[in-house]
Amino acid sequence: MYTVNSGYSQFDGRNIIFARALSDPQCPCYGHSVEEHLPDIVKEGKSGYSLIDVALYEAAWVVYETYGGAFSWGRLRPLDAKPELDRLESYNPGPEQLTAVVKKAARFYGASLVGISRIDSRWVYSHDREGTPVEIPEGATHAVVMALEMDPRGIGTTPALTSSAVVGLAYSRIAFLLACMGEFIRNLGYKAIQMGNDTALSIPLAVDAGLGELGRHGLLITPQLGSRVRICKIFTDMELVCDNPLDTGIQQVCKTCRKCAEACEVDAISFEEEPTFEPVCKSNNPGVLKWPVNAEKCYAFWCENGGDCATCITACPFTVRTGVKETAPDDFWNTL
Ligand code: SF4
Ligand code: SF4
Repeated sequence: MYTVNSGYSQFDGRNIIFARALSDPQCPCYGHSVEEHLPDIVKEGKSGYSLIDVALYEAAWVVYETYGGAFSWGRLRPLDAKPELDRLESYNPGPEQLTAVVKKAARFYGASLVGISRIDSRWVYSHDREGTPVEIPEGATHAVVMALEMDPRGIGTTPALTSSAVVGLAYSRIAFLLACMGEFIRNLGYKAIQMGNDTALSIPLAVDAGLGELGRHGLLITPQLGSRVRICKIFTDMELVCDNPLDTGIQQVCKTCRKCAEACEVDAISFEEEPTFEPVCKSNNPGVLKWPVNAEKCYAFWCENGGDCATCITACPFTVRTGVKETAPDDFWNTL
């Protein structure tokens, strides 16, 4: 559960570090991209940073980055295609049955975990990354929150590009999951507003939907997969049965554990024992009790690395116990 104080206001998508790198001259990362050093990095010849690793990593993202249908708020099937399907009635067997069907379909399309919450408008962005106010269509009441597992062997190669490829692949599989799941909900006669990391904060929604708890590293920790997940969500007007948020004492563990903070190469994660309402940079949202992660330091490391980083994920004991261990990139390739 989240503790929110009176200083809270909806997060502005323009403050996401990726948006600030493009448009905020005050941001230390302004004008920098994760890929900017890749040509030089490849020349260094390090394991996990070869041309093949770059190709694997960049291609893994391509569906998420190019398939707009993943983020549709309306029907994907062309308007004049299969008009007979538009004459089907809505499926309305009651909330329990509807919830069971939605969860089974989510797993069918690739979700590893799925939970339901009511939409808490505090978690909806005030504006998107370009500065357009976010308006959720009328009638949407519930969030179907889905988490998708990341490969335990590949993620163990962090921060090499083989690990970044695993992250990209999870996002591209999320694009597939979102498109199929959104269309499935519409086929039953309901609204489906599909979202990756856009439009609303995924982690609070996942916490509300009972998928896990927030860790010191700013990520979701699930009982089944630790932090080895990526999250997406669909808002709908379906009347569904909500899951209960978990309270397994993870935040108490985080107070003394600090393994993620010790593992982070750039000290982006707080070592303080107690969480705070105070942000450490503009990309944090004030007014929420947590250990704020310095997204500016984190992103600067990604730019230096040439790919994203999962070191705080793999350092977490809740992830380690799901089978993740430090792996050399070449050893990972040999398992494929
Ligand atoms: S992703 Fe890497 S750089 Fe960023 S906070 Fe985690 S360990 Fe640190
Ligand atoms: S590594 Fe330890 S402190 Fe960090 S999120 Fe996991 S349990 Fe919490």
